[in-house]
Amino acid sequence: MQQRQLFLQHIAQTSPSPLMLEIEKAEGVYLYGIKGKRYIDFISGISVSNVGHCHPAVVEAIQNQASRFMHLMVYGEYVYSPQVQLAKKLTEILPPTLDNYYFTNSGTEAMEGALKLAKRYTQRSEIISFKNAYHGSTAGALSIMGSEEYKQRYRPLIPNHRLLSYLNEAELDQITSNTAAVVIEIVQAEAGIIPGTSSYLQAVKRKCHETGALLIVDEIQTGCGRTGTMWAFEQVGIVPDILLIGKGFGGGMPIAAFIANKMIMSCLSEQPILGHITTFGGNPVCCAAALATLNVLSSELLTQVESKGAYLESQLNTIGFKDIRRKGLMMSVEMDTFEQNLAFTNSCIESGLIVDWFLFNNSRMRIGPPLTITFEEIDEALTILKNVYSTFFLSRH
Ligand code: PMP
Repeated sequence: MQQRQLFLQHIAQTSPSPLMLEIEKAEGVYLYGIKGKRYIDFISGISVSNVGHCHPAVVEAIQNQASRFMHLMVYGEYVYSPQVQLAKKLTEILPPTLDNYYFTNSGTEAMEGALKLAKRYTQRSEIISFKNAYHGSTAGALSIMGSEEYKQRYRPLIPNHRLLSYLNEAELDQITSNTAAVVIEIVQAEAGIIPGTSSYLQAVKRKCHETGALLIVDEIQTGCGRTGTMWAFEQVGIVPDILLIGKGFGGGMPIAAFIANKMIMSCLSEQPILGHITTFGGNPVCCAAALATLNVLSSELLTQVESKGAYLESQLNTIGFKDIRRKGLMMSVEMDTFEQNLAFTNSCIESGLIVDWFLFNNSRMRIGPPLTITFEEIDEALTILKNVYSTFFLSRH
């Protein structure tokens, strides 16, 4: 059987009409399909390839570590270099209160750990999250998802959860001394890029502080330079009690983390002992990849994120795209309907530019290239967008 037939037969499909992009190789901002067809990855494999695909420093770190050892018991028992060095690096780029790291395999798993930790630490059970927030697909993360459509067929879910409207300060009164944790994004991603304001996010933090609830900040999508600083919370003047990172963190390898101070995290070490464990989270090869990735995300690269984003936004405006929302290199562009968005994004992909839509906002086009993209590569992508735009919109009027 052909590869594509095998795919359709044996790989679980998550939509009725899969994209069926067959990729053989990736380098920098480019993906290469069969017969060498080249695509610009303008979504970074959804906010993962922040340092581009197969960054040489990341590949080298992976190869070196793979030849030493690939697996040990990973959860806070054995002492091994890639994990400890990664932790040391994180202490250098995070506030001093975020000094203790539990590494996981995925973002959703980091969320599960954070929810358990908040319940243990506060001895409360209520979790508050926000409409149109996506925090992962496993049961706990699904329970706090901000979309009833995605949840309704999986009930019963974890009880004692409350949804608030993002950016609505009046609703913050619902955070009380019953609340274990408030889970929030600094920029709501799957809602179609909705940046939170400093005053709102500071009000959320204040309310958490007053009531003794923990503030869990999900930077799985906004972290690792995506918004122009290493962490988006740096731009809004708050420090989370628990921080979640993932996606771009591993430079393409599966690693995420929930992060707190040592005192909060120590809840997980007793009553019961080994009450939260993982076979693979903090895998040595993934830790080596993450450390190399953080080293690539230098302050020089991070300061370019805003100028690249601003340039891209202004050029998109010139082409005629309307209602652009952006934070750093995290962007969305309004189309009229889902059908139009789908047809447009498919045309872009056929023309060699990978764009996408958002889970909870399917009429907006997703743009989020690797942070390492050059201005020339941005221009190359803009040429494709301009051509698709003129055949799509201008020729129809
Ligand atoms: N939180 C946010 C904000 C995300 O964007 C995602 C992934 N789209 C997750 C959590 C879940 O991460 P993962 O897919 O690695 O489980």
